[in-house]
Amino acid sequence: METKYIFVTGGVVSSLGKGIISASIGKLLQARGYKVTIQKFDPYINIDPGTLNPYEHGECYVTVDGMETDLDLGHYERFTGIETTRDNSITTGRIYKTVIDRERHGDYLGKTIQVVPHITDEIKRRMLREELNEGLDFVITEVGGTIGDIESAPFMEAIRQLRWQLGRNAVCVHLTYVPYLKAADELKTKPTQHSVKELQSMGIQPDILVLRTERHLNDGLRMKVASFCNVDLECVVQSEDMPSIYEVPVSMQRQGLDAAIMRKIGIPVGETPTMKSWHDYIQKQRNATREVHIGLVGKYALQDAYKSIRESLTLAGIYNDVKVRLHFVNSEDIMKENVAEKLDGMAGVIICPGFGQRGIEGKLVAAHYTRTHDIPTFGICLGMQMMVIEFARNVLGYADANSCEMDAQTTHPVIDLMEEQKSITQMGGTMRLGAYDCELQPGSRTFEAYGRDTLIKERHRHRYEFNNAYLDEYEKAGMKCVGVNPAANLVEIVEIPDKRWYIGTQFHPEYSSTVLHPHPLFMSFIKTCSDGTVEA
Ligand code: GLN
Repeated sequence: METKYIFVTGGVVSSLGKGIISASIGKLLQARGYKVTIQKFDPYINIDPGTLNPYEHGECYVTVDGMETDLDLGHYERFTGIETTRDNSITTGRIYKTVIDRERHGDYLGKTIQVVPHITDEIKRRMLREELNEGLDFVITEVGGTIGDIESAPFMEAIRQLRWQLGRNAVCVHLTYVPYLKAADELKTKPTQHSVKELQSMGIQPDILVLRTERHLNDGLRMKVASFCNVDLECVVQSEDMPSIYEVPVSMQRQGLDAAIMRKIGIPVGETPTMKSWHDYIQKQRNATREVHIGLVGKYALQDAYKSIRESLTLAGIYNDVKVRLHFVNSEDIMKENVAEKLDGMAGVIICPGFGQRGIEGKLVAAHYTRTHDIPTFGICLGMQMMVIEFARNVLGYADANSCEMDAQTTHPVIDLMEEQKSITQMGGTMRLGAYDCELQPGSRTFEAYGRDTLIKERHRHRYEFNNAYLDEYEKAGMKCVGVNPAANLVEIVEIPDKRWYIGTQFHPEYSSTVLHPHPLFMSFIKTCSDGTVEA
């Protein structure tokens, strides 16, 4: 089959869940046996979100090939299990950089470089992915931002041109918002009409509308939207609030979103796939009655900042038949005097990743408290480094032990800058990024959690590293290195075997947890945390 293209845009307001809708479309088509990929185009100038503060942009998601990307790629992977790469995340910055580099190289000699056609051509080239599309049936392209933004105009022009060029092989899905006005007790479709008008003024007629709503839309309202927006009634679907984002694909399937897309393209719809394992997951989610409380010790008081960790914990909970209740504990507020109170009632604690000095003392206090009280603890990246520093300070007796990131002068740099990082001066995209091998030590708790091979691969995003000069001392004192990168001999995992569950990973396991394949370390952590919990 020739590759088909689905473009997903959004209107009215941001945060409507375009990423979830794109991921759901991917899931539904995949369930029909199609080979699919999903990509995100972001209209900002940064080359990637790697240098952005999580408050600006939420979590930075890392692909196996080491690209720092938008958190929506996390949804794509968790929903579909497809491994994305650097080609699935494009920004205006990358588009311009490619064009400007080409101009300097002399590729356009004699020509004036303009937004149309040079920038739009480069956007189109990346949307089409022709050299990458081997065997792909569908390419779903989500465009960030909201219709009408100045920044997204070149992307809309590229979609308009592609639509014209590809004919029936392209479908435009537009996501809008239908607000409920309490005083009038009415759902309002006017913002949707305006959003579609805006899209039409750019030459794009949406084929399918997905209406985000907090209240059920009746057929009359759907009909009104259909007739005012030139869209077939069966192509107006609604995305109501769901108890969980993982119920969205089911709701979309029930309303025939995938079938509508296929009809627009002109491929036979056939039978609706059962998606048994997905339904099993949802059933499990509905059935879970026991609760387990997990503390997330971090410094970003924003849900999206630890998105993949949150999702990984929730997923692992469902497979352990428990509902995970997450409690954000701001590490800036944690002190020796109040740590017991702050972590009271937590069956387990995650020490979160992060950068820089702010909030690290609280993380160290938390790591000390959970280690000495034998509360299951999972340190991720900076969290693992905090476990290592805490151990050096309080067990090895090196009061000034630190990471060189926080104190370049420390006499005990138990976490040090990696050798290859020392000469790097540029900030963006220069960390140790992407998937690297890790050799597990048989017999360790971590090895048991993974359950099969000794060689695993996990994704990284850091500059600093466990300092091997101290390895013997750690091992003798009870903190073991149970995972090593064989090529560079870097410590990847530490574990205190005497504790119920005290494990730190230099890598980020949260990036590779999916709905159908929850990550083994999160599974094992939640299992230990939920041992002995009773029905809520
Ligand atoms: N700041 C630490 C480093 O660069 C940890 C990074 C992280 O937690 N992702 O090594």
